[in-house]
Amino acid sequence: MEVFYTNKKIIGPINIKFKNNELVLLLGHNGSGKTTFLKALAGVVNFKGEIISSDGKPFYMATGYVFQNPETQIVGSTVWEDVIFGLENIGLEREEIEKRALETLKTTGLLNYKDFDPYSLSGGQKQKLAISSILAMRPKFLLLDEPTAMLDKYDRMIIKRLIEQLKKTGIGIILATHHVEIFYDIADRIILMKDGLVKYDGAALEKVLREYYEEGGVKWRK
Ligand code: ADP
Repeated sequence: MEVFYTNKKIIGPINIKFKNNELVLLLGHNGSGKTTFLKALAGVVNFKGEIISSDGKPFYMATGYVFQNPETQIVGSTVWEDVIFGLENIGLEREEIEKRALETLKTTGLLNYKDFDPYSLSGGQKQKLAISSILAMRPKFLLLDEPTAMLDKYDRMIIKRLIEQLKKTGIGIILATHHVEIFYDIADRIILMKDGLVKYDGAALEKVLREYYEEGGVKWRK
């Protein structure tokens, strides 16, 4: 696939496959194309070519995309309303909507907050809510753009734990991040981007991470 902005190629060509059950870290220095690639995978920006899902359908149909700033995604006046909004939009039966919202909030640990105003939540909880509202739609792949960028150290660990837990449910996760040191030990695969292309696609080898860090002028510390 390729992405163009006003005739300039920003991404690609990239030919890639994603598997369920896999946590993929999308790495790359600023401007390397992570966000644009992730948005193309989600079908949020136009792209040429195609990435096909294992069931033969376009990949974007199987994805749920979580924006970097969780506040931009808040649509409900309570946590519960926020999670059911998308489910109502896809026209599910009331019973199914409530079942899914309940299940999702249990998984993400927000059930006790279901009547809270989303804006009253902590940063980590807001991020969990943004993830919940997408998860409730039951995507096969969860696409996360810098999910810890707006969070302090404590909340980052909470999100890491949630992601570890979600991984066990069999969902595929593609996570664009600068916080390599937080996620590398739970990643199954690393995709390293540079100038809109994939420079490395494989296991989270320390050698690759060290090179990536040092290229950015930062010393790699485990
Ligand atoms: P990253 O997420 O890795 O920082 P981006 O995907 O945001 O990278 O950006 C990749 C490239 O695309 C950059 O050169 C950026 O300037 C360019 N770009 C991003 N968004 C737009 C846009 N809306 N119009 C034109 N160029 C853009």
